[in-house]
Amino acid sequence: MSDELVQVGLSGSGDAKVYHTESDCSALKNIDNPQDISLESLTNEWRECGYCSGDHDPTKSGPAKGVNPSKTKNGLLETDPEELGLSPLGERPDGGTA
Ligand SMILES: [Zn+2]
Repeated sequence: MSDELVQVGLSGSGDAKVYHTESDCSALKNIDNPQDISLESLTNEWRECGYCSGDHDPTKSGPAKGVNPSKTKNGLLETDPEELGLSPLGERPDGGTA
């Protein structure tokens, strides 16, 4: 049978099409509202999460497969502080307190 359910959702890193097969995946914890979806309904663009597939080896250095560090950095820069739960007026790194 090919009606296996997987978890999908958009993480903070952007629009990577990655599905998760392990409900306790550490990467899945970064997803706000993961959805169960049939694996069969996903297109070829989707690939299995490195953690879930077992490809990710923490003993190896370097970024995980499919992760673009610069893209992730840009994503953080483009994120509105309020989305991170921070006050735009709070704790300014430049010391510009009101
Ligand atoms: Zn995963």
